[in-house]
Amino acid sequence: MRIIILGPPGVGKGSEAEILVEQFNIPHISTGHIFRELFQQDSPLGKIAHEYIDRGELVPDDITNQIVRHRLSQPDAQNGFLFDGYPRSIPQAIALDQFLEEKGWQLDAVINIHADDELIVKRIGGRRICENCGRIYHIVNNPPKVENICDTCGGRLIQRDDDNEETVSKRLEIYHRQTEPVIDYYEQSGRVIHADGSQTIEKTNQDIMKALGEHH
Ligand code: ADP
Ligand code: ZN
Repeated sequence: MRIIILGPPGVGKGSEAEILVEQFNIPHISTGHIFRELFQQDSPLGKIAHEYIDRGELVPDDITNQIVRHRLSQPDAQNGFLFDGYPRSIPQAIALDQFLEEKGWQLDAVINIHADDELIVKRIGGRRICENCGRIYHIVNNPPKVENICDTCGGRLIQRDDDNEETVSKRLEIYHRQTEPVIDYYEQSGRVIHADGSQTIEKTNQDIMKALGEHH
């Protein structure tokens, strides 16, 4: 399966992605996660990306596309993948089309998870992330078994620097301006599944799985 998940920040893309990649046994490719890892590893690219992320802006398309091209060349991505947070702009969508064409691959599904800005702002305040493995939690909707400790790796849960109210409204503004047109881009080829992200993580997953079933 080759899947893309689109949606505003904090809508639950990452959480839905974590479930879907288990269900389909494909790698989870989150550009946000890759950027955070590069930054933690002190890579020069990671430092550049971090400046944009901190301001709530998109990392420039050429950097992002380069990272994705490299990621797609890895052995584990040859038989399928799930993109979480990519493409986030029209130039990225065009670049991805080109990568796919070079490989002779087609997308099986584009999933758009939607929710109101108001709900997103409310939710993002409760988001926590494992500083070690990047797994996503929510203090109310998806808490860890032990407070502040990652179920998977025992790492410490932290709040992302860019999950503050000010940066979130900037990210939403950029989402509406730069990422929403990507939905229309895919809609033109009739490949979009729309899922309601205001529900529980499980219910949204059920809706997605049902739509994917009907899709095939
Ligand atoms: P969320 O979608 O919840 O905001 P992500 O981890 O997907 O979280 O992204 C965090 C940040 O990383 C974004 O706000 C943006 O600055 C950067 N980023 C992630 N993916 C992309 C992308 N495809 N293009 C440009 N910037 C990106
Ligand atoms: Zn962890």
